Amino acid sequence: MLELEMPSVSGAGSGGPGLLLSLLHSRSQLLGRMSRELASCTGREEVYRCLGRVALPELGDWCDLDVLQDGVLQRAAAFRAPHGAVHGPPGGPPSLLARRVARSGHPELLQGPDEQVAVLLSSGEETLPRVRAAGPLDCMAVPLRLAGQLLGVLSFASREPELHLDEDALALAEDLAGCVALALETDRLRQELKRARHHAQRQAADFQTLLDVIPVGIGIAYDRECRYIHQNGWFARLHGLPLESNISLSAPDTELQPIRYLDGNGRALIPEELPMQRAAATGQEVLDVELDLEVHGQRRGTIVVSAVPLFDEEHRPRGSIGTIQDVTARKRATEAQRFLAESSVALSSSLDPEQTSRTLVELCVPALASVAAFCGWRPDGTLGMLMLTHADPTLQPLADEVARTFVIPEGHPIHEAMMTGRPRLIPVLEEASSWYAGGEAQRQGPCHGLGVHSVMLIPLAAPQGVAGVLVLGSTDRACTEEDFTFAQEYAAHATYAIDNARLYREARDAISLRDEFLSIAGHELRTPLTSLQLGLLHIVRESATPGDPARLSKWVAMCQRQGERVGRLVGCLLDVSRITAGRLPMVLEEMDLSALMEEVAARMGAELEKVGCPLVLKLQSPLRGRWDRSRLDQVLTNLLGNAMKYGQGRPIEVTTLATPEGVCVRIRDEGIGISPEDQARIFGRFERAVSERHYGGLGLGLWISRQIVTELGGHIRVESVQGQGSSFTVELPRWVEG
Ligand code: ADP
Repeated sequence: MLELEMPSVSGAGSGGPGLLLSLLHSRSQLLGRMSRELASCTGREEVYRCLGRVALPELGDWCDLDVLQDGVLQRAAAFRAPHGAVHGPPGGPPSLLARRVARSGHPELLQGPDEQVAVLLSSGEETLPRVRAAGPLDCMAVPLRLAGQLLGVLSFASREPELHLDEDALALAEDLAGCVALALETDRLRQELKRARHHAQRQAADFQTLLDVIPVGIGIAYDRECRYIHQNGWFARLHGLPLESNISLSAPDTELQPIRYLDGNGRALIPEELPMQRAAATGQEVLDVELDLEVHGQRRGTIVVSAVPLFDEEHRPRGSIGTIQDVTARKRATEAQRFLAESSVALSSSLDPEQTSRTLVELCVPALASVAAFCGWRPDGTLGMLMLTHADPTLQPLADEVARTFVIPEGHPIHEAMMTGRPRLIPVLEEASSWYAGGEAQRQGPCHGLGVHSVMLIPLAAPQGVAGVLVLGSTDRACTEEDFTFAQEYAAHATYAIDNARLYREARDAISLRDEFLSIAGHELRTPLTSLQLGLLHIVRESATPGDPARLSKWVAMCQRQGERVGRLVGCLLDVSRITAGRLPMVLEEMDLSALMEEVAARMGAELEKVGCPLVLKLQSPLRGRWDRSRLDQVLTNLLGNAMKYGQGRPIEVTTLATPEGVCVRIRDEGIGISPEDQARIFGRFERAVSERHYGGLGLGLWISRQIVTELGGHIRVESVQGQGSSFTVELPRWVEG
């Protein structure tokens, strides 16, 4: 509340009755001054001050202004001209008169001196004595009203006998009240406007912050054609364009940005088809439109756009707001899941390893790469590209040639991946020349010729080792970490299929090998057993009748030989199960290798003679060392036995000699020889390079020999030219630790 003591106006107390009259005459001047001064007021307090300044003492020396606040009349300002003592309490509740006028809404004038004036100017019993002591003569109160609405009450009182308040003064007070009401309302509106503006500014700032931080693209257009679309930060980042750029495809030519939105069929939408333009043109919502975004010809991702129209007061569309979500990752993940699910079905549809690896490679093109190859070991032991597919059919013949001729050398990245099982991403293939191949491909280098610029090498790591390397190449862009991760996930899926197919083939091969082995073993055992049976029959016959003792001992010797043969065969079978179970114990002793060789040769002398193979022994003697005598005997017997069996009656040469590392035995024949492919596999279990019809044998001798030699810390190898003979070499360290 404002309470002021006003300066005494000279003449206010010294004039006669004519003064009030003259003042009333200048009523219009007073009103003019009042409205002028009020017009320059910038706040409520100034309005009050102005009222006090202009109205007193012209309308008395006592003025109260009470205003309605939340429906309650409250004292806002009180002015007392210092005429003698200051009368009345500072502030305080509204007077009874003010309250009465507020209730009735009618102005009131009371002329005194009268006790009633003091009562009405007081606010109740408590303040009455003080008001009474001030000695008010006349009083009046007028409502402050604007547009029929009560704002407060303006009260005046006079204690000067010369300053009587009359009907004219009341009329002037009413006019003044109108001016004050208008000023107060103007001030209220101004304050409200200020608050509203402040609020709007804050809301705009909050909205801008929201636009800046929200992880959704937002575009706003304020015209029906969406010629200018404002974008938020996220949207700008998605486009990779400056925030202030106009991203509308309906923009004027000079502002158009190199943006394209493509539908599911890869067709670029025209501006009128875009969601924001459609919403602004039709006044209808356009929801969840999936589009591919392309900027500067580069695909930036997949977005889902929704747009709602903005309306004016007449509910006519005046623009639109669009929201854009980046669903690239989600879409990619869904596509990836679908791809993996479909590829799993395709990959597991065959149990043939070649077919499975072909499917593996074909599925990759063009979904994961422009060029895909499956690399693995060839039967000749070299590493090659077993399948190679190119997205461009015109380059497929070259791809086939690369697959046929490219031998992946040691040190080559694919070779490394195969050996280490470590995947590798080569975003930019700089050393294309190292990716050489044979023939035409050799001249150009496979990757160069096939147009590959970026490569991913993904080994298929199966439990038994690396089953192969999937090579994925891109011809048009650098492979990314994301591509690399996904390719590995795909390869992990594919490995199961490849491994399954491999295991299936191995199991199938093992079963047919076992069947073949059983039939050979049966055959091998039947022959000596039949001879044994025959021999025993003869012995029984010979012993029943006194006959020729020489004949009897011949049959006994024959039975002995056949018995030994059966024993050897059974021993072989036992060794297989021992080795398979990991139990091949060595009993080491110090011995002479050359002496053992001589012993074996002597034991087999009769048989050698029978097949007509002259034996040449070139033994360095003695060759001492620590080995397992009976196992070494087994190896030498087997090698000499084979030389005899496959030696075609030609000479056999056996050499023993000391080497810097230990000792060496070489058994060389001039027999049928072994082809290079067969040389690689004859040391395998049940592996034979000859037909069982021509030569007997279980295909186990070399396998067992290799296990024994390896167990003794040495190695065994073959050199052979088909049709010219074979040479088997065993190298052993001398002092094998037990
Ligand atoms: P087998 O009992 O069949 O002889 P091995 O394991 O001893 O079994 O030999 C495996 C295969 O290696 C033979 O079937 C044969 O094809 C080939 N082989 C072994 N030694 C010779 C050799 N000296 N000359 C030619 N071929 C041989």
